[in-house]
Amino acid sequence: MKSLPEVLDEARKCVKCGNCMAQCPVYVETLEEPLVARGKLGLIEAVGEGESEFNKRLGKILSQCLLCGTCAENCPNSIPADDIIREARFLLVKEKGLSLPKKAIFKYLLDSNYLMPLLLKGGASLQNLFLKKTPEESGLRLRFPMPVLDQRRLIPPLAPDSFLDIHAGWVRAEKETRRVGLFVGCVSNYLFPRIGRSALDLFLRNGVSVFIPKSQRCCGLPAFGSGDEETPRSLARKNIEAFEEEGLKEIVAPCASCASMLKLDYPLLFDESDPFRAQTLSFSSKVKDASQFLGELLPQKTGGNEFTGKSLRVTYHDPCHLRRKLGIFKEPRNLLRALPGLEYVEMAEANRCCGQGGSFNLANYDLSLKILGKKAQAIDESGADIVTTACSGCLLQLMDGLHQQGLKKEVRHLVEMIDQATLF
Ligand code: SF4
Ligand code: SF4
Repeated sequence: MKSLPEVLDEARKCVKCGNCMAQCPVYVETLEEPLVARGKLGLIEAVGEGESEFNKRLGKILSQCLLCGTCAENCPNSIPADDIIREARFLLVKEKGLSLPKKAIFKYLLDSNYLMPLLLKGGASLQNLFLKKTPEESGLRLRFPMPVLDQRRLIPPLAPDSFLDIHAGWVRAEKETRRVGLFVGCVSNYLFPRIGRSALDLFLRNGVSVFIPKSQRCCGLPAFGSGDEETPRSLARKNIEAFEEEGLKEIVAPCASCASMLKLDYPLLFDESDPFRAQTLSFSSKVKDASQFLGELLPQKTGGNEFTGKSLRVTYHDPCHLRRKLGIFKEPRNLLRALPGLEYVEMAEANRCCGQGGSFNLANYDLSLKILGKKAQAIDESGADIVTTACSGCLLQLMDGLHQQGLKKEVRHLVEMIDQATLF
């Protein structure tokens, strides 16, 4: 984590050329200068130079960023504006503290050993009290107004049993050729255990034995993106220790955002002087996103579309964490092109952010849906019947957003899609 002078040094490199404007999903929808990267960097500079301070207004502006990295990708000076904005959030939280709801969620829920599993287990049996089924929809809706969640939102039901309630420890492949650890992630664990199950089945069918530590926890990304240092550090220690004992060489995460957090952000949490740093670097070097791992494991098709005329069309949305942070975008497409019975179609601007952005989507629901509007249009125009993605945050955003736009498309996680299409 950087100090204010370090953050200021980086922010000062911005020459205010405006190249980041046309592609910034937030600016495109709002046309507000403070919300584009150069506007935010200018405001951070003003704080660093003592002309302004970390106040409520700046906090609001900094929170209106998806951390999607599109600005950095389009910056001729290679300024990592998204990283600088995130660092400024850490400084803000250091000075002003976390808001009470965030503090309660991150410190007392996410980082508690028992509370989150207990609460979500209880929530699964009580969800009909708070959520209602609507006949025409596959998700649930709030019965009463609640903080944080917009009442229009389509909410996936909590699974009666989490993935980790059912699967834990070693699961051995019949003819073992490889061993991996599976980092499940909260969405797959509590909402869609079928994603974790698909990863497990795919690995086992292909000779990969899987170790699933029961004590693994949230990766910490929601807290990290909100400027909280302590919760992700505590979660990182717990996750690293959970996978440590088995001497694994590979740890696979089906969710691209979790993979990016474990691989790229965990090392930022422990500086050179921290005795836990060596363990962290060793752990992070072993982490792979599931599409990268499956790309190594399964036969793929490269090049053109060889399945034109097949009955169902599938398209793919690039999660920002996978494409911009981890640099993975060929593997998911090549894997989808190889699936029997499906025609792969590329949507326009597949790497355009969907508007999820972690807590951005909770705090700025209308703006988030506006941003999703362009994605929905691209999906519609692609003619696809099914849209896939490799990040659980994007998955939730696409499920809700396409529904709000009235677009009837099936939304599937990439791993689930590959598992089901290769069963036959
Ligand atoms: S493109 Fe880079 S240098 Fe230009 S305004 Fe944006 S952040 Fe600054
Ligand atoms: S990270 Fe994304 S949303 Fe934030 S300023 Fe850059 S382009 Fe805009």
